[in-house]
Amino acid sequence: MVKLKLFLTLVLYSMFVFSVNGYVLFTDINEELTLTEHAEFAISNTAELSGHENWVDDPHSLERKPNQYLHFRVEVASNHSSPTPVWFNVTFPAIKYLQVSDGNRVWKTGDALPFSTREINLPNYHFPSILPANDSVTFTGHMRGEILRYNFSLATPEKVINDYVDTLQRDMAFFGAMAILTALSFLVFFATRKIAFLSFAVFIFATTFWFFRVFGYAFEILWPQTPELNDISYAVSIYALLLSAFGVIVTVLKRPGRQIYGEKFIKWFCYLLPLIGIAVWQTLGLDLALRLPVLLFFPYLIISVVVIIVEHKRGSDIAKRFAIAMLPIAVSSLFLVIIALNNTLSTWDPVATFMAGILLTCVFMIVITSNYLVKLLQKERDAEKEVAQMRSEQTSILESLVKERTKELERSNTMLAELASKDTLTNLPNRRSVDLFVDASFAEATGDEKVIAIALIDLDHFKNINDTYGHEVGDIVLKKAANVLAAFNSDSLLAGRFGGEEFAIIARDMNDNRFYMTLHSIHNSINELSITEIEDRKVASSIGWTMCTGPIDVVDAFRRADKALYTAKNKGRNRIIRAEES
Ligand code: GH3
Ligand code: MG
Ligand code: MG
Repeated sequence: MVKLKLFLTLVLYSMFVFSVNGYVLFTDINEELTLTEHAEFAISNTAELSGHENWVDDPHSLERKPNQYLHFRVEVASNHSSPTPVWFNVTFPAIKYLQVSDGNRVWKTGDALPFSTREINLPNYHFPSILPANDSVTFTGHMRGEILRYNFSLATPEKVINDYVDTLQRDMAFFGAMAILTALSFLVFFATRKIAFLSFAVFIFATTFWFFRVFGYAFEILWPQTPELNDISYAVSIYALLLSAFGVIVTVLKRPGRQIYGEKFIKWFCYLLPLIGIAVWQTLGLDLALRLPVLLFFPYLIISVVVIIVEHKRGSDIAKRFAIAMLPIAVSSLFLVIIALNNTLSTWDPVATFMAGILLTCVFMIVITSNYLVKLLQKERDAEKEVAQMRSEQTSILESLVKERTKELERSNTMLAELASKDTLTNLPNRRSVDLFVDASFAEATGDEKVIAIALIDLDHFKNINDTYGHEVGDIVLKKAANVLAAFNSDSLLAGRFGGEEFAIIARDMNDNRFYMTLHSIHNSINELSITEIEDRKVASSIGWTMCTGPIDVVDAFRRADKALYTAKNKGRNRIIRAEES
């Protein structure tokens, strides 16, 4: 009850002070006195007043073109018994030209003039003055520019500076966090090459820079002597902000090999937006061109919601996560859009809310997308592992298959080699092997000893056996005789079937005496064969032999041995005859 009474008294007192007397009383030096609602406004085509202007309380009832001047005046009275130093504050640092006077001094400044024209070295406009004891000061002035947002107030320098420290802390914390997020996005982009993180980096940087410009820090710190950069930097950063915001949607929701819903439209819109901006600037003025991206932020949010919902329905895993990330910026953007449409600064601070919203969304965006990416990478890695395992299994199967095939091939190769070198009936080396053994004997022989022994054996009266017992029995006899010869085969001696019932014996590293002894032994062994199929009839053989003195003697040596064999047959068979060597 007491509070309500106090409030009503205050309201009544204010109405009396503000509207009846026409001035505002500066009573509490610890408070900032808001003057906007108490100021009067008028519009003129020139900086000078003609005296015919229509002064009004509500500036929104005035129709002003960007090149026209908005005049203001407000009277502030002091009930203090001593003069009070105060600052007259215009708190929105985007006024092209601003002139303020307290009746004694005139200050000229604005975004179109160097930063040094500001009376106090702070991003907003502050004009030092003195309220005389128990008297009033009328602050008058005018301003010109595209987007005019302003808030007049009066406070002691101490009060303003104190408040500034809070704002500065808020802003620097925001810029610091956003700078870290920008760097983080860049790092993640360079590490993963995922384009979504590049769009995060651009979006966060553009947003940060836009705030840096709008809050007046860019002019104060980056280009204090180049006021022309103020408009350009505002335009570039606000357009970059909106474009990169679209970039974020497309790159985050994009899945390999398929377009996101409305991708073509968004892309075309993004290509055209700068052109639209320029067209609006040239036809409708810079004011609207600079406002356009801010106004488009609302449609952007609607488009985002539609695209996210459609992509979610199409089975995108990340759509839902992205929607959560967009929530803080969506809520806080609504406040900013309301402010942009309203053209007044509300008493309640939407800027800090918007900054917090943006910051949260940026953090969510990076965290959620990174988390999703990590899961995706894990999936990919698992799939790769599976493929690798399958491949190694296939490889080992293939390897064992190749090994088996190689063994089979080796087996068939040795079989083929045996087939090619052996006689099928007797299993003795065939004639080809005999020839090869002769060649090899000369090729491998060392020193001067290039002598080999050659003998040809022919079974006696074999035709009779065939004729008497049949061809099959003849074969058996041939095999038995071959078995005798096979027993003599070694590295230095080769006994092979030369054809029909004729055999050849080649010996290397053997003198004629030893060779003869060997032949003798073979001859005897054949003689001693007892074969039941031929009723133990004696098998006899005739042998002709010779020593071959070198490769060029081979043909002649075989001819000689054959001749000696012929001689043995002629002399009555069953004997060994050495050829007469030339
Ligand atoms: P000789 O040499 O003592 O003058 O009398 P021979 O009866 O052995 O005469 P010849 O050398 O002319 O006859 C060889 C016979 O051997 C002729 C052929 O039918 C027979 N013959 C050749 N190759 C084979 C074979 O693989 N198996 C059998 N069963 N007989 C064969
Ligand atoms: Mg013969
Ligand atoms: Mg014969």
